[in-house]
Amino acid sequence: MNASILIVEDEDALTLLLRYNLETQGYEVETIARGDEADTRLKEGTPDLVILDWMLPGLSGIELCRRLRARPETRQLPIIMLTARGEESERVRGLATGADDYIVKPFSVPELLARVNALLRRASPERVADVLSFGDIAIDREKKRVSRSGHAIDLGPTEYRLLEFLMERPGRVFSREQLLDGVWGSDIYIDERTVDVHVGRLRKALNRGHTGDPIRTVRGAGYALDDRFGKTA
Ligand code: CA
Repeated sequence: MNASILIVEDEDALTLLLRYNLETQGYEVETIARGDEADTRLKEGTPDLVILDWMLPGLSGIELCRRLRARPETRQLPIIMLTARGEESERVRGLATGADDYIVKPFSVPELLARVNALLRRASPERVADVLSFGDIAIDREKKRVSRSGHAIDLGPTEYRLLEFLMERPGRVFSREQLLDGVWGSDIYIDERTVDVHVGRLRKALNRGHTGDPIRTVRGAGYALDDRFGKTA
């Protein structure tokens, strides 16, 4: 089961952005816009991590953090505080009240995701999502499982590495030689046609029972994950 994250933030646009990105990573996300409501909610049950905005209606993030640290059930709850730019003294106060980490607005989404993952890895390593997704295809890298539209897909080890390689760089076109280097390693000699064989197998496994081919063959160049596929699904 993937980790659950509660976002307590009153800026709708930011909440939406965070929710989307965290869900894409495989996390279960709940959002609350008021500090007092989050306080009530957190007495009912504890998520794996809280992203807590500093300035909130109802009850400030800092007061909520203080309350959470005072209760035995939430004393260890990982908390990332969001603060406004330049409030250095507030940052220090944020940590003094017991937040595990803080991040200053405006921040980049990858930076926040990295902090979330780092904190969860420390607190509950078994529940950190390591999911790579593209359209309706997902790879759980920890379990080395592939699914399409939620249905498990069985791949051989080479097809698995090939898919992972392509999904790490969606849209980019790779020559057969580049795929050999990236997937098989450059120190062994394998005929480039081997790539075609494995791409063929990967395609067959992915597309069985599904419509839409995520792999694009680029004549004279190589293969890529189809950008349009990733966007429409
Ligand atoms: Ca706010």
